[in-house]
Amino acid sequence: MYYQYLIYCLFLVFLGCQSSGIESSELFWPAAGRVTQAFRPSTNKAHKGVDIASSLGTKIYSAHEGRVVYAGQGFSGYGKMILLENKKRQVRTLYGHLSKIHVSAGQHLAKGIVIGEMGQTGRASGVHLHYEVLVKNNLVDPLIFHKN
Ligand SMILES: [Zn+2]
Repeated sequence: MYYQYLIYCLFLVFLGCQSSGIESSELFWPAAGRVTQAFRPSTNKAHKGVDIASSLGTKIYSAHEGRVVYAGQGFSGYGKMILLENKKRQVRTLYGHLSKIHVSAGQHLAKGIVIGEMGQTGRASGVHLHYEVLVKNNLVDPLIFHKN
């Protein structure tokens, strides 16, 4: 009886490991442009994602399949932003400073769909996309998912 319980628990742990994380090739790079600010999560002037700069109106793409959990400009500094989540893969991506948002909260999206346009809304010194990736609630460097 006890052993059966133990094996069951180990099986659950195994399943947990199987469904966690995301492979390096699974995310779609959200915008064409130049990376102008790197990921610096733990410095004095922390930067929780990367900045990708290009011209106003540059298309922004969904990095993965998921549900739009937020689309609007209610978060100070981020301007017009989108938060996309895939609960099963435990990944969330955030897109900030947009000039236009083409999706709305609750919408389910495939990977590589146009979700908005690059802009300079919020606290932004120039036209760029601020892009954050969270895996299992932890910020990660978006560049590790895009080795190309
Ligand atoms: Zn930024």
